[in-house]
Amino acid sequence: MAEKNTVPYKIYLEESEMPKAWYNLRADMINKPAPLLNPGTHQPMTAEELGGVFCEELVAQELDNTNAYIPIPEEIRSFYKMYRPSPLVRAYCLEEKLQTPAKIYYKFEGNNTSGSHKLNSAVAQAYYAKKQGLKGVTTETGAGQWGTALSMACSYFDLDCKVYMVKVSYEQKPFRREVMKVYGASVTPSPSDTTNIGRKILAEHPGTTGSLGCAISEAVEVAVSNPGYRYVLGSVLNQVLLHQSVIGLETKAALDKYGIKPDIIIGCAGGGSNLGGLIAPFMGEKIKGEADYRIIAVEPASCPSFTRGVYAYDFADTGMVCPLAKMYTLGSDFIPSANHAGGLRYHGMSPILSQLYDDGLMEAVSYEQTKVFEAAEQFARVEGILPAPESSHAIRAAIDEALKCKETGEEKTIVFGLTGTGYFDLVAYEKFHDGEMSDYIPTDEELAVFRARLPKVD
Ligand SMILES: *Cc1c(COP(=O)(O)O)cnc(C)c1O
Repeated sequence: MAEKNTVPYKIYLEESEMPKAWYNLRADMINKPAPLLNPGTHQPMTAEELGGVFCEELVAQELDNTNAYIPIPEEIRSFYKMYRPSPLVRAYCLEEKLQTPAKIYYKFEGNNTSGSHKLNSAVAQAYYAKKQGLKGVTTETGAGQWGTALSMACSYFDLDCKVYMVKVSYEQKPFRREVMKVYGASVTPSPSDTTNIGRKILAEHPGTTGSLGCAISEAVEVAVSNPGYRYVLGSVLNQVLLHQSVIGLETKAALDKYGIKPDIIIGCAGGGSNLGGLIAPFMGEKIKGEADYRIIAVEPASCPSFTRGVYAYDFADTGMVCPLAKMYTLGSDFIPSANHAGGLRYHGMSPILSQLYDDGLMEAVSYEQTKVFEAAEQFARVEGILPAPESSHAIRAAIDEALKCKETGEEKTIVFGLTGTGYFDLVAYEKFHDGEMSDYIPTDEELAVFRARLPKVD
């Protein structure tokens, strides 16, 4: 415990130490992520084509594989200062409870009203939309974290925000819906009768409760058919990982202050944005041979894109209107089993992380949800924070690595991303407490059905 005197419970950076530029890992990657393809021609999407859907400056960021540092505009930095720098916490209480010689740190991104890291990219995307003189943006949201973050960012920059929320979540998570309305967003349950694709889906499947892929298709349709609107996305895309690099840059700066070198870096992986952001500067060093780290992605066993998916071009949405992305995927119409409550339910994974994983630069593990909620509760009871189910995947893996250290006596330093809080996920916690949470792992046969429907691209 001697070190307790030197490393505080929370390492805060000064405002003046906050990153002035995002780090674009692609500039240092030897094998670049595969380009997005036009779903009709299978040719790489041009800036012009992408510009019909996304904001100009964001398109430039999406396609930029060369500039390692991209300055963070002052307006975005001022917004960041309302809730950043976020603390890097030494989990002394968890270490004590586990009786492990490992040193555990977590970067906490839940300290804002949206309750997650998603605000880091939402504010950047809203800023560029405003700068382009747009009237507003459209998006989809599942559980609601992204929609909430975007609503906050849009109200700050005085932009209209139209959110298509998966119908089942719209009905089951009325509180998130109301938070979005506080920030002035319009929230429509998807599928809806406000779009062609929504009307088509409703006609074909009258009782449907919706899916993320379907909400994406609706939001894209509204963006391209309304002048002055563009579509924005909260994960998966290169630009989103770029914005999230603020997490990793702050983490590295905080560790450097105390001369700490992590051995293991862990993050949960849905579409890959928080993990991609957290690991960016560390992975950059690893690629350049300046340092070595074990980097671990953690995903749900019920939606195992890295651990059981294939690396192939696939559709980003159910309506098949979005560009094709090369990624570890389960197939664009894969939907995790109905009892899955732990989040991270997207069928694919960020093209950047997919390439790094394929190159053997990072590892992936999957956990069943009851194991994840056990870890969530263990963490909440000693560290105080009520974690989001998504974040708890990373907690599970961090605890397991710390327990391995207990066996071997190794004093490893483990850093993990605590992406958000779980106040809106109490129905999932309730299921866990009431013993109604089961673990469903898809069979190989089930996964093969979706895999067979992947688009043929050569
Ligand atoms: C959205 C979300 C995630 C997963 O998204 P990534 O893009 O994989 O980071 C993880 N944790 C929280 C709290 C989220 O809201």
